Amino acid sequence: MSYKHIVLPENGEKLRVDNGTLKVPDNPILGYVEGDGIGPDITRACLRVWDAAVARAYGGKRKIHWCELFMGEKAAKRYDGDYFPQETLQALRDLSVAIKGPLTTPVGEGFRSLNVSLRQQLDLYACVRPVRYYDGVPSPMKAPGKVDVVIFRENTEDVYAGIEFESGSEANRQLSAFLREKLNARFFDDAGLGVKPISPFATKRLVRKAIEYAIEHQRESVTLVHKGNIMKYTEGSFRSWGYELAREEFREQTITEDELYAHHGGKVPKGKIVIKDRIADIIFQLMLLRPEEFDVIATMNLNGDYLSDAIAAQVGGVGIAPGANIGDNIAVFEATHGTAPKYAGQDKVNPGSLLLSGVDMLEYIGWKEAADMIRVAYPEVVRSGVVTYDFARQMEGATEVPTSGFADALIERIERGLEIEEVKQRRAERRRALEQERAERERRRMQAPEEEMMASGRKPTTVGHLMTRNLITVDGGESVDEAMKIMREHAISSLLVEPEGKETEWGIVTRHDVLSRVVSANRDSARVKVGEIATRPIVRVDSDASLGDCVERMLEHNIRRLLVERDGEIVGMASESDLANAVEQFGWVRAE
Ligand code: NAP
Repeated sequence: MSYKHIVLPENGEKLRVDNGTLKVPDNPILGYVEGDGIGPDITRACLRVWDAAVARAYGGKRKIHWCELFMGEKAAKRYDGDYFPQETLQALRDLSVAIKGPLTTPVGEGFRSLNVSLRQQLDLYACVRPVRYYDGVPSPMKAPGKVDVVIFRENTEDVYAGIEFESGSEANRQLSAFLREKLNARFFDDAGLGVKPISPFATKRLVRKAIEYAIEHQRESVTLVHKGNIMKYTEGSFRSWGYELAREEFREQTITEDELYAHHGGKVPKGKIVIKDRIADIIFQLMLLRPEEFDVIATMNLNGDYLSDAIAAQVGGVGIAPGANIGDNIAVFEATHGTAPKYAGQDKVNPGSLLLSGVDMLEYIGWKEAADMIRVAYPEVVRSGVVTYDFARQMEGATEVPTSGFADALIERIERGLEIEEVKQRRAERRRALEQERAERERRRMQAPEEEMMASGRKPTTVGHLMTRNLITVDGGESVDEAMKIMREHAISSLLVEPEGKETEWGIVTRHDVLSRVVSANRDSARVKVGEIATRPIVRVDSDASLGDCVERMLEHNIRRLLVERDGEIVGMASESDLANAVEQFGWVRAE
């Protein structure tokens, strides 16, 4: 197709897609959209840095041929007021890979956000946000370096699908009536209504992308984040479909977290990626407390929106967070911040978000060495205190430079100082450090699997996961007074009574027993022996028994505690409270 305003660079070659794989020539044409507001400032600066990195990494053997595409205000000027020209869309498809600055959403009726339209029109169904820390960047965390995750956020459905019915509208009235009368739904009058579609199709293609990414980048795990304990048939189904996809399409390359513990004692078999899931609210805590345990995250639109900004903030990077919207063989990388109109044209703002999105773009087309040039130079320049205004105001003794000045400093570092061998060595060092950390986590998992599992936010599925392991016992010959003292000292309400003499079974004595069998019977607690009032035997379950089975056993025997055994040995005890607490904390989701 010939374009009206777009000019393809003469010496460049388009990327090709061969059998589903992207083929990148040494002189690829990549698209860029300057964007509005501060867009031109940051784009100009970044183009220079990306080019310098490519030149340095490949000594002139490779070169990007940039093709300017138009969206937003610059497009409106060229295409008679059209902010989103068809030929830009076509060119984005033709070129397969492009990068864009921020775009203003035109104010007024009938305008959808250009970013949203772009995602929909090109079916860019995965919003990919890699979040990692660069040394020197001001961060609110003590150890931001532990964060290194890539979030795959579903881009096309969920409550963002725009299926909403305003309170008081006719459509709302009709839908309310239908929900109440036909489906017996209950809600307050005049409630605004929205629909949350989550489909197996959209879920599976998103999770597929996340797993493919994890395999390609040798990541340790993919975590499905959901609120399935509350929204069973949307978020809960997302989780089930995610596991199903992993089972159906990546059986050889993946294992579930259940399998990791049940069959491998916490040791990840070589070459396997662990598929796990976490409840959405718990992942927010865990990303603060144990971020190193999360690697690739796949989640729905709304969770992903919140999560990507929250995690980016941990590494000090909401303003410098990179991102991309990716579909099948098409990717548009982007600055994740807005157009910051008050700084437009001032050569002032931080180009970090667009710059690092470009780094991910280089990685995406397989030019890892060029990507690494910038990854190595960037923290060095920031650490030296040469930064734009936004970082300068958070760093003591910094030298504030304009956008172009920051780019100059980077280019200087890349051109005058960095050797390709050094850059490769840094990647290898990072890899080694990562592997060491993994080995250390694995060691902890193998030593104390249950404790590690719970601490890492995994929901318990067997009684062995949540039982109390430190059993406090008493000799049946002790007095009830002594037993009560032990209970008070340990703030517990029951004690295990050891087998003794002709009694070969374990027993249990509870505070309730003391009241009903000693106090109520008007007996002297100093003289009554624990063995006399203990209940024997205690019902036993295997440590692999499911929580559901345990509940059934308790109801069947009308009891509140179970003794847990493994290979005939007593290993713990589980109470009604342990089970109820687990349900309260993790929700009641069927085991996968
Ligand atoms: P914004 O443009 O992101 O700016 C908000 C504030 O964030 C700025 O005032 C500035 O803070 C800081 N900031 C943003 N980019 C920065 C950078 N590169 N370097 C340093 N600081 C930066 O958000 P907004 O004002 O809400 O939105 C403005 C327009 O952008 C709207 O039209 C919106 O629709 C659009 N938007 C577009 C995208 C996109 O294209 N992807 C995304 C979001 C918003 P200080 O004032 O504290 O220095």
